[in-house]
Amino acid sequence: MRVLKFGGTSVGSAQRMKEVADLIDDKHQKIVVLSAMAGTTNSLVEIANYLYQKNHDGANEVINTLETKYEQVVDELFISEAFKSRGRDLIKSHFEFIKSFTIDMFTVFEEKAILAQGELISTALFHFHLQEKGKQSALLPALDYMRIDKNNEPDGAYIKENINKILKEQEEQAVYITQGYICRNAFGEIDNLQRGGSDYSASLIGVAIEAEEIQIWTDIDGMHNNDPRYVENTKSISELSFDEAAELAYFGAKILHPTSVLPAKLANIPVRLLNTMEPNAEGTLISSNQRKERMAAVAAKDGITAIKIKSGRMLLAYGFLRKVFEIFESYKTPIDMITTSEVGVSVTIDDNKHLDEIVNDLKKYGTVEVDNDQVIVCVVGDLVADNKGYANTIFDAVKDIPIRMISYGGSNYNLSLLISAKDKKKALNLLSDKLFNQETNEI
Ligand code: ADP
Ligand code: ASP
Ligand code: MG
Repeated sequence: MRVLKFGGTSVGSAQRMKEVADLIDDKHQKIVVLSAMAGTTNSLVEIANYLYQKNHDGANEVINTLETKYEQVVDELFISEAFKSRGRDLIKSHFEFIKSFTIDMFTVFEEKAILAQGELISTALFHFHLQEKGKQSALLPALDYMRIDKNNEPDGAYIKENINKILKEQEEQAVYITQGYICRNAFGEIDNLQRGGSDYSASLIGVAIEAEEIQIWTDIDGMHNNDPRYVENTKSISELSFDEAAELAYFGAKILHPTSVLPAKLANIPVRLLNTMEPNAEGTLISSNQRKERMAAVAAKDGITAIKIKSGRMLLAYGFLRKVFEIFESYKTPIDMITTSEVGVSVTIDDNKHLDEIVNDLKKYGTVEVDNDQVIVCVVGDLVADNKGYANTIFDAVKDIPIRMISYGGSNYNLSLLISAKDKKKALNLLSDKLFNQETNEI
């Protein structure tokens, strides 16, 4: 069995949904994981924000615009009056549900229920569309098997047991359709796997059913060697190792959700990134195969804050770093990058929610400096220490850009630089020119 995930743009209009339906062949049994139609989750977030502010007029305006959009989708997607009418009823019931929250108290529980509507609608519409085409398929409700635990981590055992149970209970199908992104939490409430989380759903499902392959279908022909939103002439990479892909996803390559590679890596299930608009393009195959001696790609992670704790006297004392890390742990704030010197330690975080409390606590151990608006630029490839010269090429490329932190050696696949956000675009372009676009590469 295969897992095929189609992202928001891939199902972003009635026409695109039809193209996805045409793409799905009968050769392999498959679970099709769908995101919400492009823009929907953003609109649902907007609605929730208005409802938190008790701005019902604001909420209603976004709700009505979104509902009108879906009525048009239904009109274009279906041919027969019978299916148009089923589509209209479906939209009506989901929007009545969303509107019901404009009257009562609004909490995070209601917010999560609203955010789930995008994927529930896209999968139901797609299911109807296949039916109208005469293609057999079954819906697998993600809320019946996808679950996170008390620490907001996927509950692998629960997911495996329940998705396989649901599959067994159903009549055997060539195509199953399910929602990405949405899940239940440890209390059985509706929750989600964070923005962009449909990739994570696909990977967790792939592992749970021991899929032969996980395919992520999106709007670009695989992982490119730099961020195409900031750099021209980026190129698709045909093969990446799990480790390289995980680093790139974690450090900002938006094509993959940051945590979606790890489950596939642990279960050794190949992940293929493919382009819905160009289905015959090769895309990127992510597997355990590590290509030697090459720099594969550059990515950048935004919204980074650097924190420097200076304490010459204490740093050399054993236990100092533990105390520093415990502060971050107590606020459930992960650290991305670390560098140390004799007099201090610098770390970066991408979640500022508890920044003030963290800084306050750190002050017990020394002077604390905070730099906002930083970016981690990360070069990924086979960067094992035995391969000489990589660092030189990378630093030569960015020699005119001020660098705040450097991290290398944490893995064999990554060299990271912390720079100011204003230098990001320039740094990405300089790295592309030097690493990928020169006729004779120095490495
Ligand atoms: P989906 O809606 O299908 O999940 P996303 O928008 O989340 O799609 O991810 C695809 C986008 O990721 C591309 O359109 C591209 O702009 C962006 N992207 C950022 N970095 C990369 C990269 N290194 N390679 C390919 N795409 C990238
Ligand atoms: N619809 C969700 C989002 O926009 C999940 C996803 O697309 O992966 O974040
Ligand atoms: Mg995405």
